Amino acid sequence: FRTHISWYSTHVHHREVISAKNPAVNAFVHVSELSPSTANNLPLSGLSVAVKDNIATSRLPTTCSSAMLQNFTSPFDATVVKLLEQNGADIIGKTNCDEFGMGSLNIHSVHGPVKNPIGLSQAPAEERSAGGSSGGSAAAVAAGMCHAALGTDTGGSVRLPASYCGIVGLKPSYGLISRWGVVSYADSLDCVGILASDVDTTRRIFEHVTSYDSRDPTSALQEIRDKARRHTEEFFPFSQPPDRIINGLRIGIPQEYFPSEMSPAIIEHLRTLIALLKTQGATIVPVSLPSTSYALSSYYVLASAEASSNLARYDGVQYGSYVPPDPDTDLTKTSKVYARTRSLNFGEEVQKRILLGTYALSADAFDNYFLQARRVRQLVKNDFNRVFSMPNYFSDSINYVDENTSDDHPPVDVLLHPSAIRTAPLLTESPSASEGDTSLSSYVQDVLTVPASLGGLPALSIPMKVPQKDNDGKVQWPVGASIVGQWGTDDLILSVARAIE
Ligand code: GLN
Repeated sequence: FRTHISWYSTHVHHREVISAKNPAVNAFVHVSELSPSTANNLPLSGLSVAVKDNIATSRLPTTCSSAMLQNFTSPFDATVVKLLEQNGADIIGKTNCDEFGMGSLNIHSVHGPVKNPIGLSQAPAEERSAGGSSGGSAAAVAAGMCHAALGTDTGGSVRLPASYCGIVGLKPSYGLISRWGVVSYADSLDCVGILASDVDTTRRIFEHVTSYDSRDPTSALQEIRDKARRHTEEFFPFSQPPDRIINGLRIGIPQEYFPSEMSPAIIEHLRTLIALLKTQGATIVPVSLPSTSYALSSYYVLASAEASSNLARYDGVQYGSYVPPDPDTDLTKTSKVYARTRSLNFGEEVQKRILLGTYALSADAFDNYFLQARRVRQLVKNDFNRVFSMPNYFSDSINYVDENTSDDHPPVDVLLHPSAIRTAPLLTESPSASEGDTSLSSYVQDVLTVPASLGGLPALSIPMKVPQKDNDGKVQWPVGASIVGQWGTDDLILSVARAIE
């Protein structure tokens, strides 16, 4: 009974923190009523978990931060939400995000931008982005409003906000967590991810939400899950203490992941981490993933193409808020009704992606853009398969070996690189689509996260140890290191993260 009281009071406490901090942070867009009947003896009992607002919940609205779905409540729960509740978690509320998951700074939202909770007492001009698109989920965890949060990661939307907010963010292997009830952005890339302040909580949640779901056609079959798990466990027994996992581990450092735009301090932090891993017995291997420089362009063509198709359903008739026609509109032209609903309900960034994607799929551009981007995606996958010691059990290409490439480095177990090229940007310097921003500066934020997305690989961002102040006494902002593994080695990367923590 006593434990029940303490769990209950934790849930009450989190709701109080939300009342106090949310007006400034803007992480939550809906908060749930606390149900006193929450069972107290289940594996996730006592955990308050927030859910990104593009994941369906029957008790709270699901807006995807879009005017298009502002009044929408799903008639059913996403599989991942059902699993959380069945295991005793308290779904504390829904979190702000970039509209339909499109963005890197959580500034494209009908609910307004999310503010990074770190150092929020500073002047408004000093406010920083929480990252995106799962910015609300990351900020909610970082501000102590909940224990953990679900996000979605199509090209980095869990790992980038985790890096900016100084918390842990896991994008599991593609197909391990069901996407049933998750609003599609780009199906071939979309993954549900987990954000938490420590690795153990991340693992605890992951273990209870990863299972085969026949309702999601891309859900990984049980036999493939088992095969990858058995293989991983054979080589890396997880029962041993966390620091032992590092001893003898071969860690690859991809040479292409240090672009000129990267801040030198980040490279320093990674060097410190590498030195620590060496003392724990890891072998550090410089590796090359030559197709990395094309990954970002390939990602934005493919993701936009899939988005243009997925978002076609929001026409105001089948789905989405219908905007009545202008009296001057020729009502016989259905297209005008659609156009009005879509122009008024979708934000600028979403419209930009729909146009880009529609163009890439048009007869004239299909070969040069869409097919070319798909070829690049295969090259990126081949790069990964070439460096990892384990085969990709999920992929259709069987452990590709390129005869023409002389591989002078032995295979590696995991890859390690910075999660982002910089720390959280100021909100005032964030470019906005409505200001006619044509630069690619916000897209460049994703340069280090999209390759693992294209490969469907598990990737986890963990905060690097950064001194609070630099030599000049200036506050240092957090930044993450990413651990990336072969498909299905999620347990291994969680164990490596636990050892680094
Ligand atoms: N920033 C990327 C995009 O806008 C990634 C978003 C995501 O992972 N959902 O597409």
